[in-house]
Parts: sequence; C-alpha cells; structure tokens
Amino acid sequence: MIVTQEEVTSRFFRIGAGGAVAGAIHILTLLLGWYIETDGGVILTLTGYDFIESFLFSIIGGLMAGFSLLTAYFVKRLGAIKAVIGGLTTIGGLLALSSPVYVYVFKILEVNLRGYPDLGFFAAIFTGIIELGIGALILLTPLKKEIVYPVEATTATVYPPPPVEPSASFPPTGRRAATATVAHIDIAEDVEEGVCTICYYPLTSENAVKCSACGALFHRDCIDAWVNLNHFCPSCRAAIYG
Ligand SMILES: [Zn+2]
Ligand SMILES: [Zn+2]
Repeated sequence: MIVTQEEVTSRFFRIGAGGAVAGAIHILTLLLGWYIETDGGVILTLTGYDFIESFLFSIIGGLMAGFSLLTAYFVKRLGAIKAVIGGLTTIGGLLALSSPVYVYVFKILEVNLRGYPDLGFFAAIFTGIIELGIGALILLTPLKKEIVYPVEATTATVYPPPPVEPSASFPPTGRRAATATVAHIDIAEDVEEGVCTICYYPLTSENAVKCSACGALFHRDCIDAWVNLNHFCPSCRAAIYG
C-alpha cells in the first residue's frame, strides 16, 4: 500500500479529532448529575462541578485532546505529529478518567456518603475511556509499516539548489573531471530497512535503487528527480549516466 505523508498526517488528525470530541463531551458531563445523595431522607443531586478537583481534572483532561490538534498543526515531522496528538490525548484521557474515579474513592467511599451514582458519573467514565483509547491508538500506530512518500511540495524544499555550472558540458570538466568516477543507478534488492539518501524516508525493496559507485540508496522517484537537476550522485559525487 502506498501512502503519502499527507495522508498519514491527515489520518492522525482525523483520529485525534475523535479524541477532541470525546474530551468535549466529557466536559459537558460535568453539568449532569454524578451522584444522588440520599442521606437523612433528603434526595440531593450532586453534579460533576460540585466536586472541585473533578471539575479541574475534567476540564483540563477534556481540553487536552483538542489542544493536541492545535499544537500538532504547527509541527512538521510525522513522528512528532503522532507523538503530540497521541501523547497529549492519552494524558488528557487519563486525567478525564481519573476525575470520576477520584470522586468515587475520595468523596463518596471515604466519607461514606449514602446514595448511588447518577448518569453523569458513567458518562464521564465512558468519555474518559474513549479519549484515553484514542490517544493510545495513535501512539501504538506503527509508522515504519507504511510506505511513506513525501508530498511533492516537501520534496521540492528538501533538495539543495543544484550547483550552477556555467560550462554545462558533460562529463564534467576541470578539477573534478580528474577524480570523477562514473556510476549508474541499479535496482537495489533485498532492502529490508534503510532510508533514502535524498528524502530520508524509509525504503522498501519495491522502490529502492542504488548508486553503483558508492551503494547509496534512493527512492526511484527521488533519484530521477535529482538526476534531472544534477548529474552527480548526492552521496559520492560520481557522474551518473542513465
Ligand atoms: Zn527518497
Ligand atoms: Zn554514489
């Protein structure tokens, strides 16, 4: 499966958006009843925001998933985008989930409050688990399994500007001609791992080629584009024919 970097990035943002929605719904559960207190014959509904610690945990935890999308928007590298969205959403989910758990353990069990949990309590747990699950899913998504091709725009910026040689005679003249070796591009077989010398994205045996002089590995598309601009191997500077 061929996947571009743009597609992988937008997939992380789409999954992350699910985490942000879960976080937002989690915050709304603060408005619902979390516990029905039945002490002393009086029935009293306690909402999520009646517990100050939970109020803080839930607001911060719920907002974190949305905040992660905002932060990742300014990040360029795919691995960093994954770490920011996955990491912050996971932390947010843990905080969100700990909010109702905290209420139950320290505000209800510990003080022996009589009554029973209300709908908002379960909704808070449920949305916290979803936010946590989405964060963990993003963190656990492997990047190396995908064949990631850089998008056109980034490839263009990765290339160093081709050296301008006024005497564009070929093969090269002058000092370089004395030492220049001649190379061609071969199919590279059995490439299990390794990155392209030009774009630094992972290679597979389907798309890998190599310089016959130094063995540097490239994507077929990357070296073709390179040779159009500059007839020398980016690694060993051998003149490349064909
Ligand atoms: Zn490449
Ligand atoms: Zn080379």
